[in-house]
Amino acid sequence: MMIYLDYSATTPISYDVLDSYNKASRDYMGNPNSLHSLGVKSKVLLNSATRQICDLLNIQEDELIYTSGATEANNMALKGVALAYAKKGKHIVVSKLEHPSIYRICEYLETIGYEISYVDNDSEGLIDFEDLKSKIREDTILVSICAVNSEVGIRQPLKTLRQIIKKENPNTIFHSDITQAIGKVAVNLHDIDLASMSGHKIFGPKGIGFLYKKESVNIVPLIHGSGKFTDLRGGTPPLPLIVALSKAIRIALNDLEKREEHVALLNDRICKELSKYNDVILNKTKYSIPHILNVSLLNIKPETFIHAMEEDEVYLSTNTACSSGDLSSSVMAIYNDRKRATSTIRISLSYVTTNEEISKFLNLFKVEYKNLTGFLVDEK
Ligand code: PMP
Repeated sequence: MMIYLDYSATTPISYDVLDSYNKASRDYMGNPNSLHSLGVKSKVLLNSATRQICDLLNIQEDELIYTSGATEANNMALKGVALAYAKKGKHIVVSKLEHPSIYRICEYLETIGYEISYVDNDSEGLIDFEDLKSKIREDTILVSICAVNSEVGIRQPLKTLRQIIKKENPNTIFHSDITQAIGKVAVNLHDIDLASMSGHKIFGPKGIGFLYKKESVNIVPLIHGSGKFTDLRGGTPPLPLIVALSKAIRIALNDLEKREEHVALLNDRICKELSKYNDVILNKTKYSIPHILNVSLLNIKPETFIHAMEEDEVYLSTNTACSSGDLSSSVMAIYNDRKRATSTIRISLSYVTTNEEISKFLNLFKVEYKNLTGFLVDEK
């Protein structure tokens, strides 16, 4: 039996979502931008999928821009704001706990004259409020802080951050990457001006996501094209993906609290067991959500361990699936410990993860740990 524990990298598409995708592909072939009846039929479906997403997220329909995923949405937010507000300022503040895509965009923006400041966090991963205040200036056009960090699962208090930002400079726009938060914990989009997400993290299809953009915020589009509906992101709307995304969001937002409780129990079980190991350190703080559990294996190369577990059909991740270096920048930003940051693995859970899977995982962990280190946990 395969034990998949890499839900933060991606999730399998749910059958219901795939059914919606197939049905929309089969029965709605018209381009929603066409004037004839096939186009109109598709447009009606597009509008109703959009309405459903907006109702679920409590936002307006013109505040939703479909993208290919969170990377594109992050690009659209940061570059889009940078270009739209260049006359007001060229200063952007980001946290040290962002997804690599945010840092790559910042590096690019620096090459075209923008200045980036990195706000500190405390030893639990919480944004340092005083530092945030001190970094916001007259020319700060944007602050970008992810709602839930992808490596250690640190959840930030968006409402408080918003208050701090707007008090320092009411014109500063607040963007949050909510990719790892949506479907796991409650997110109120009214706390943010711009938000990015990817459908494939919530049992939706790969290749679709969105940028939420508060009506009052301006962005310069990255992809110019035709179609009124797609003013800010040109191209024919991928109707089957959009319909599937709306279904995935609807399912993802069900029973959030109950699902989180279930995941928290699984997380507790893992932590209890792994804390018996001498050279396994839990990189978990009081702000980590239970779905993302980061641990350092001080005695084993993380890749070696991941591959050994893979032989047993257990799928885990070394820091993030998309991080290129072998150092976890988030673990470094929180613990400031190189050894710890270069030996991390991430166990990511979902509400569909079962107790049985965790029992098997813990047994296999014990076996592979002994194989690779020669230590049996109980012999400690
Ligand atoms: N932001 C966060 C927080 C993520 O976890 C990810 C995916 N690892 C992304 C952005 C990028 O998402 P995608 O690869 O779907 O564009």
